[in-house]
Amino acid sequence: MLDMLELRTISGVTGVMGCLMALVMFFQRRSYPPSIHGLGHWTAAPLVAFASALLFTLRGMVPELLSLGLANALMFAGAALFLAGTYRFFEQPLSARAQALLWGIGLLILLFMRFFTGPYGWRVLFMGLLLGGVGAWHARIISRQPMQSFATRFTAIVLALSSTIILARAFSAPFMSPQEGLFTPSPMQVVYLLGLAFGTLLTSIGTVLMASEHLRQELERLVTRDSLTGALTRRALFTTGEAELARSRRQGRPLSVLMLDLDHFKQVNDQHGHVVGDRVLVDFVARAHAVLRRPAVLGRYGGEEFVALLPDTDAAQALAVAERIRASTCADPELPCCHVSIGVATARSQESLDALINRADAGLYQAKAQGRNQVVQQLAT
Ligand code: GH3
Ligand code: MG
Ligand code: MG
Repeated sequence: MLDMLELRTISGVTGVMGCLMALVMFFQRRSYPPSIHGLGHWTAAPLVAFASALLFTLRGMVPELLSLGLANALMFAGAALFLAGTYRFFEQPLSARAQALLWGIGLLILLFMRFFTGPYGWRVLFMGLLLGGVGAWHARIISRQPMQSFATRFTAIVLALSSTIILARAFSAPFMSPQEGLFTPSPMQVVYLLGLAFGTLLTSIGTVLMASEHLRQELERLVTRDSLTGALTRRALFTTGEAELARSRRQGRPLSVLMLDLDHFKQVNDQHGHVVGDRVLVDFVARAHAVLRRPAVLGRYGGEEFVALLPDTDAAQALAVAERIRASTCADPELPCCHVSIGVATARSQESLDALINRADAGLYQAKAQGRNQVVQQLAT
């Protein structure tokens, strides 16, 4: 069985896979918004892996400086480029020190492979520790991201498995027979070369999946978040509201709604201009968010009117929350701070979302009529 696997072919196929994945990434990158970072590194990484695999495949046919020194250095560079791409993707670019460290290691590999004349096993140990180390570091960075998805878990597992294979081979190196070489068909060597081939392919697929997931999240954010204030859009507010209302009925839990409208906001625009008006709106959302606790959500109902949905909140608690928002002040002292009027309503059994919001709106209307900067709770029908 082992004899049937031509190891040199596996090495060559690894390279071709890398090349194809680079092509996929290249075309994908062109259709992605520039706000998604790291795709350039993720395109270059499998290409560099391709160059490395090509040089490995030519072992014995070209000078050792290329098929040994440069091949190993490029393999490390490929792994480092994947890692650097991931750092950029997660908006935390590698520090200058980390970059210098990686460049230094690459150079060290080149020199070590060029001048070290000891047994093959030592080269395997040296290279395996460095490559497996970078792979494990990479897996750790991805698995520690706060937003986990199938894509991140998939990539982290692929990296962890490949690193385990590389490290296992490194630690088995001292027991290798002195005759063994890169293409000796020992079980460990077969597992290693297959691990590299699939590791490169699956890591690339993982990066494509992570980029797609990122794009999906960004599109979802565009649809559900108001671009100025970051509050929910009116549409997302109603979707969330219907779901919360259904849940509150199912579980017999209270649900309250606040309708908030800034007082004399038109004057802010008239006196200070629209740009300042916009900043006051953003500041108001920050004020409200500082008071609201999950699972409460805030949505922009229109203009300078907002709706807060307060799940698991009864009438007395809702009144207290509204009062705290009303009493809050602008976070930015430079801004002309607006007061706010708030209507409060708590869902009755079988009441629709529209009816609930209408009652909160009636409370708001009353608050405005009574002189603004106050909270009115709608208890009566
Ligand atoms: P009241 O106390 O009765 O609520 O008075 P008001 O001036 O706040 O009420 P009105 O509804 O008459 O004015 C709302 C203003 O909000 C009018 C509109 O130009 C302004 N506005 C709506 N959306 C935006 C926005 O996105 N940015 C800015 N800067 N202004 C906005
Ligand atoms: Mg207003
Ligand atoms: Mg208004």
